[in-house]
Amino acid sequence: MNDQGRQMPDRRCPYCLGAVKLYGNSRGFRTRYDVGPVWGCMRCVAWAKVDPRSGEPMTRISDEHLRQARAMFWHHVHPIVRRKAAWGAMEYRVAMAEVLDWISDRLPGRPKPLLIGFLDADQIREAIAVADQHPDAVIKAAPAEQTRNDLP
Ligand SMILES: [Zn+2]
Repeated sequence: MNDQGRQMPDRRCPYCLGAVKLYGNSRGFRTRYDVGPVWGCMRCVAWAKVDPRSGEPMTRISDEHLRQARAMFWHHVHPIVRRKAAWGAMEYRVAMAEVLDWISDRLPGRPKPLLIGFLDADQIREAIAVADQHPDAVIKAAPAEQTRNDLP
């Protein structure tokens, strides 16, 4: 694969506003292992893994700070999802979808689905605050209850 240097249309690095380019591997981006093709800005060491089907980025272009914020989100949310899955005797992925919907309902704009990979650091901080506010409420909320609570 030699797409190195190909410019991504209409996308700029969110940090330096420079051009984001497609790289055949992630070696230049200090990843622990090669994650394969990435869209990235070498100057900011900011990158996003490429969706092999669409060729599009799978997250927003993320620097180390944003990656850490995202890891912190999952650090807060995984235990809630585990508890919800156990409490509701449901599959982990179902509990995850419900927890993310519950969080989304309490964020501005109610983004659905809530794609953590596309949030910025402030939005992630907000999502963590929402998740931390009422962990028992999210664990015990049934999807139907959530819908009722959404009514004005
Ligand atoms: Zn940059």
